[in-house]
Amino acid sequence: MSTEILVAGGGIGGITTALACARRGIRVTVLERHSEFGEVGAGLQIGPNAWRVLRDLGVIDSLAGQAVMPRRWALHDITTGEEIFSLPFGTAFEQRYGAPYAVMHRGQLLTALLSACRATGLVTAIPGKEITRISQDTGSVTAHCADGSTFTADAAVAADGLRSTVRAQLLDAEPPLISEYVVYRGPGPRPDGIEDAVMLYVGDGIHYMQYPISGGTMLNRVASFKSTRGAPLSETWGTPRELTEKFAGATAGIRAAVAEMDTSKRWPLCDREPLPGWTLGRITLLGDAAHPMNQYLAQGACQALEDALALAEALSDAPGDPEAAFAAYEEARYPRTSAIQQYTRFIGDFCHFGGAAALLRDHFLSGLGIEDRYAYTDWLYGTGGGTPTRPIPPHLTPYGR
Ligand SMILES: Cc1cc2nc3c(=O)[nH]c(=O)nc-3n(C[C@H](O)[C@H](O)[C@H](O)COP(=O)(O)OP(=O)(O)OC[C@H]3O[C@@H](n4cnc5c(N)ncnc54)[C@H](O)[C@@H]3O)c2cc1C
Repeated sequence: MSTEILVAGGGIGGITTALACARRGIRVTVLERHSEFGEVGAGLQIGPNAWRVLRDLGVIDSLAGQAVMPRRWALHDITTGEEIFSLPFGTAFEQRYGAPYAVMHRGQLLTALLSACRATGLVTAIPGKEITRISQDTGSVTAHCADGSTFTADAAVAADGLRSTVRAQLLDAEPPLISEYVVYRGPGPRPDGIEDAVMLYVGDGIHYMQYPISGGTMLNRVASFKSTRGAPLSETWGTPRELTEKFAGATAGIRAAVAEMDTSKRWPLCDREPLPGWTLGRITLLGDAAHPMNQYLAQGACQALEDALALAEALSDAPGDPEAAFAAYEEARYPRTSAIQQYTRFIGDFCHFGGAAALLRDHFLSGLGIEDRYAYTDWLYGTGGGTPTRPIPPHLTPYGR
């Protein structure tokens, strides 16, 4: 018995869910509130755990020439530029995790996923449909849209992001937790001599990240700092002027990159505490709607990709019984996504240490042999899909949380 699925939200999570379901013969309708399907003009890191999902869904070939495989991930001191730590992404990494580490433009990934969806003939993707609520009875769900239209299916997946309307209806109407950190980001030209690497530069309460995208022709750039000017989201908080001031002590190259960045939009960094209960009968949550996390492990979209595959597999395993499938999906995914939400916060604190804590961190990281470095990433990138196996040494656990 086949099930028809309604997906709320046409971001990376929603479109990947549609594709994963369609690959298993399930018909899907995606409703997106914006008038076009699109992504913010920024880059995305795709760890091997998520690259394996893209490979399973058959979209790797269409990313050729756009995705870049960086040689390594490297951590630097933002003031001196000195390298503290690096994780090589070469052959040993790929063999260990069965996939490479990739970086790409978000829009190019979404386009590849959408065209793969269309090619299945099983996905109807409708823009300009803002869902205000989803109702359900014993055999179906109905999405009610702001323009008065309704769409009915057997079950619904809400992939409507950090400020999910469906999550507020189902589980938790509280707004997301806004951190003290603000982000400015955007691609820019790639100057000569920039290595094919994910480079993170850290200092006390600030960081700058860059990596190549769009076939290596552009550089994705992210500058973030802990604002000390008023309450988060207030007019004085996290302004472009504070950005310049906070980065005054960074290397000349970083200062130049920050000066070029588009500062017309600032992103307050948000997440939520892990909370079970994504599933209620024939409706479930996915991606940021279920488990929004800070970006420090670069896993928000990667986890949405893992969710999409797990959900489609659960639906295939329970034909005609979406309630059972959704319950199994949440049971399978909740432990891992919760652990990543929490670990990500730790990594944020760890990267932003200052003073003696930063010295200890740097000493600890520079002493790690290659096997030890991988031991910290096996649980995240490996095929086991598990939770952290190797705790961070207690003397380095963050203060203030
Ligand atoms: C600075 C920064 C850097 C990041 N870097 C990385 C990275 O390198 N790697 C990584 O894996 N993750 C990264 N992330 C996280 C990643 O961006 C998110 O986790 C991911 O985009 C979540 O995808 P999603 O589809 O769940 O939600 P979203 O991308 O938010 O998509 C939700 C969609 O639903 C639509 N929608 C919302 N409400 C409605 C409604 N009522 N009706 C219909 N449609 C609706 C929206 O318009 C949107 O299209 C980063 C995040 C930030 C802030």
